[in-house]
This record gives sequence, structure tokens and C-alpha cells, in this order.
Amino acid sequence: MKTKAKKKNAAATAAVSGAPAELSYSGLGVSAGIAIGPAHVMERGLIDVPDYCVSDVDAELKRFDVAVELSIKQVEKLRIKASTLSEAAAEELTYLLDAHRQMLAGSRLVRGVEERIRKEKLNAEAAVQAELSQIAHAFAAMEDAYLAGKIQDVREVSARLVRNLTKAGYQAFSGLAAGAIIIAEEITPADTALMDPAIVGGFASALGGAEGHTTIMARSLGLPAVLGVPSLIHAVKPGDIIALDGVRGTVVVNPSEATIARFERRREALVRRQRQLDRLRGVSAATRDDVRITLQCNLELPSELALAQQVGAEGVGLLRSEFLYMNRDTLPSEDEQYVAFKDIVEGMEGEPVTIRTLDVGSDKLAYSLGEHISPSVNPALGLRAIRLSLKVRPLLDTQLAAMLRASAHGKLRILLPMINSSSEIKRVHEAMDKVVKRLARKRIAMSDPLPELGIMIETPGAALAADSLAKNCDYFSIGTNDLTMYTLAADRGDEQVAHLYDPLHPAVLRLIRSATQAADSAGIPVNLCGEMAGNPRFTALLLGLGLRDLSMSAPNLPRIKQRILGLEMADAEKRTAQIMEQSDSGVIATLLDDFNALE
Ligand code: PEP
Ligand code: MG
Repeated sequence: MKTKAKKKNAAATAAVSGAPAELSYSGLGVSAGIAIGPAHVMERGLIDVPDYCVSDVDAELKRFDVAVELSIKQVEKLRIKASTLSEAAAEELTYLLDAHRQMLAGSRLVRGVEERIRKEKLNAEAAVQAELSQIAHAFAAMEDAYLAGKIQDVREVSARLVRNLTKAGYQAFSGLAAGAIIIAEEITPADTALMDPAIVGGFASALGGAEGHTTIMARSLGLPAVLGVPSLIHAVKPGDIIALDGVRGTVVVNPSEATIARFERRREALVRRQRQLDRLRGVSAATRDDVRITLQCNLELPSELALAQQVGAEGVGLLRSEFLYMNRDTLPSEDEQYVAFKDIVEGMEGEPVTIRTLDVGSDKLAYSLGEHISPSVNPALGLRAIRLSLKVRPLLDTQLAAMLRASAHGKLRILLPMINSSSEIKRVHEAMDKVVKRLARKRIAMSDPLPELGIMIETPGAALAADSLAKNCDYFSIGTNDLTMYTLAADRGDEQVAHLYDPLHPAVLRLIRSATQAADSAGIPVNLCGEMAGNPRFTALLLGLGLRDLSMSAPNLPRIKQRILGLEMADAEKRTAQIMEQSDSGVIATLLDDFNALE
């Protein structure tokens, strides 16, 4: 009640002054940039629900039960998040989520849906919709306006259930106002793939960690983003003006004129800085003492190719092939993949393109693969990446064939995600031999020699066994995003443990060093394509650890080049040697930041 009174006062003040009250929130600033625009509140609704008769009622009840369980987990996760807010906001949000939680534990809605599945043999989605309509009817007839308003909670819970039943991706980013800022509970990598940076200004959500794939996708698209802002979605109405700062992690709802002016000044400063960096396009990346560093781009989507060319990337160090599987119900054919790969290889005009086989699972779940991936208690440790490709062999064979065919059009390398053992590499070699023979029989052109086959070093196991893995592959690519997560057991996509996810932890640095040294000893190339490569804070340290080849999202490349141009390799190596003697990541951070400030 106390909270309601406060809210009323704020509304009253705003009404008197004629302008809505400015509200400021802070979260994780994960993708740089400033955006000011109208809010688009992303509600995954009850639209286009399939409606059919089920023959196996028990199976349908089970399916509904799984959706209810998943919904409960989601609400509980949000509730934990809410408890970290300020007192008033926590009270309000917790109250709301408790109501949702109760509704999921056997309310009229849940019981009614089960009844309809049992008696009418309706599919679960249609049963939810039918039950919601009936409840809404009953609520509309209520005289108490407060109780009648509670239908909104029933709608939200129903929408969550339908979303979890259909596993539907969000498809409605069309028709947005220019510069719209998307506000959501959670934004998946697949949602981000649907955002057109020419229209969308940026986004903010309640869930999501610092190095999840949504974050990476936002950086690649140059979309400012702030994650981990739990109460935002409940505070914003569609069309409210939002000012978002993806560097500082600030989101302001209904900003005053003074706040807008402040954000605009910051935006202009960032644009000026970017223009200066653009001048470095034709300059090669070399340290002051002339050590040449290769800078390549990571691509999430083919649409980023133009930017990679614009910033002068010396190739694509990592093409994540997941984009081919997102936002669809069917698997991409060999021909479709071949055309997509060929276009990118040709677009890079002779520069190498490293294409990674499918890396779904964990936070990168493609709906088209749903039947192959069952829910797992620990999805990050489950059937994902190369494990899935080796289990469902047509997935691997189709991709290898598409890559081999595209290799005839330029320089292409094949990369395998989440490798832990030599036997996994050998099995891919065997699969590749068979595909090569099949294509050769059909006289289909492939590169000669055949593409190199490399592996991601992104688990502690792979880093520790790097010397033996190096004997079975052509190159290493160090993936610090997963390597940090698995080494420290801190989920890269969970804002609750974002403070524990620390790439400067000595264990992570030692693993990067040992993988780099193992590659050097075996005489194979090594590059680093995790997000560390695109953050100038880490550049001196990575060079000091022996890396000479870095791959990052295109918008970050000019800043990294500028950092390299200002560095003396001998100094970077000396500081890295000091850092590697430390056992505390706080001390390491200070040593690194002091060095960066001096240079
Ligand atoms: C990594 O893990 O560092 C990496 C580059 O792969 P992804 O981010 O796609 O998991
Ligand atoms: Mg990875």
C-alpha cells in the first residue's frame, strides 16, 4: 500500500507539472553508444496461436505441464532479480511476480486449461487462449475497477505460457518508429538478429549478462544496449521517450530537456571519436617497435560484411554459422548454406574467411533444432556445438559440404567449436574425407589444397591439452568468452554472476598463455576471437601473451588498431610478465589499467 501511495504522489506531481516524471535506471552497459527514441515494449503476445485437436491427451497435458514449470522458473528468476532493487521498486515488482507465481501454481487459469485439454481435446496453446477469453469476460463484468484491472496479470501469465509452448521467436520488429528503443524482459540472440540497426535505436532488458550472445550480436550490429534492468519493463509505456547510454549502462525514461541535451552531447563526442578512428582505415596495425598484428572481424550476420570491409578487416576470423538456423522451423539446406558462405568469401575479396560449424545449445538455441536438443539441467555443459554436430551427422555433413563447395571461391578455413579431445577432431576429419570424396565424384569444385581445419580453444580441458590437440588440427582460435565461463564456472549470460565473470582471473590468463605457447611449439597459427580481442583494455596483455592475430566485431576494430599503434611491444611484454606472476585478479587489473593509463 505504501508503494501505491508513493506512485500516486509521483503521478500527481507529474500531472501538475504537465510532464511525465523522469525515471533513471542502471544496469550492465554491454554495447556502446547513445540512443534516444520512443519505447517499443516487447510483449510476446497471444497472436497466431495454432488451434487443433489432439489425439494424445496425456502427452498434451505433459507438454502444458512442462510450459508451466518453465514459466515458474522464469518468474522465480525475475523475482530474485527484483529483490536486488531499491525497497519501493522491489516491493512493487515482487508483489506482481508473486501474483504471477501463484497463478501458475494451479489457479483457475491453469486448471481451466487442463480441463479444456482433457474434455475438448484442444491443443494447449488454444486452450490457454480460450480460457483467457472466458476469464477476461468475467473480469470485464466486475464493478471493482481494481479487481477488473487484474486481468492484465492473467494476460501476462497467459502470454508467457503460450510463448513457452510455441517457443516462438519474436517476429514483430516491423512497423517500428524510427530510432525505437526496444524494452523487454529478455532479448534472445535470435530476436537481436531481427533488428535492423537502420530502424532500431537500441535495447534494454531485465535479463542477460555481459558476454552472452545477445550482447555480442548487439556489439556487432552497433546497437547500444543495457541489460539487467529488472523493473524497467513495468515502468515503461509504449511510446515513452527513452534515453539509453550503452557505455555507462543508464536508461532514462521520459528524460527532461536537460537530460536529453546531456545525452546528445555524449553522443556527439562518441561520433567525433569514431570519425577520427575512421581515418585509420588504410593504416596497417603495427606496434611502435614494428610488430605487425593481424586484425580480423567476427561476423554474426552476413549484413555485417560491409562494415568489416569498411573498417579494413584483414579477413573474417570467425563467421558464426548460427544465423542460418535462427528464426525458422526448418533446417537450412546445403545449397542455401553454400550460397551464404560463397557470398561472404567472395565479398572478402581474397582475404581469408574462417567459418565455424554450428555452435548452438546453451543460450544459442535455434528453434529448428528443437527436436535434436532436449531440455538439459546444464545446457552449457550439454549437447551443444560439435557434440551435436557429431551426434546428428547430417548437420555436420551438410555444413562441411557447403563449406567445401564455397572454398572454391576464395580463402576459406573451417573451425570447430567446443572441441575437447583429439578423437572429436579425428571424427570430423573422417566425416570431411567422406564428403570430399562425394563431392569429387560429382566433379564439384573445391579449393586445392583443401581448407584448413582448426579448433576453438574454449574449455579449460582443451587449453590444458592444447599440445596434443595441436598435433591433430591446422590452427587454434582461442574463445575467451566460453573459456572464462567454464574456467570460473560463471555463466556469461547471467547478470547475477556478471561480477564473477572475470577474464583477468589468473587462471584464465594462464590458460590463454599455455594454449598460445602450445600452438607456437607445434608450429601452427593461433588467433583469439573472444570479446577480449575487441576491448582495448586487454590489447597490451594479449600481445604480451604472444598473440599476433585478433578477431573482433567490426565496430571495435578501429579502436584496437589505434591502441596497437600507440604500444611498444617490449613494454607490453614486460608488463605482461609482471602480471603473470600475480595471483589476484584485482592486482592484475590495477597493473593493467596503470599501464594503459601511461601509454
Ligand atoms: C568464445 O567462446 O569466445 C567464442 C568466440 O565463441 P562464442 O562467443 O560464439 O561462444
Ligand atoms: Mg564459444
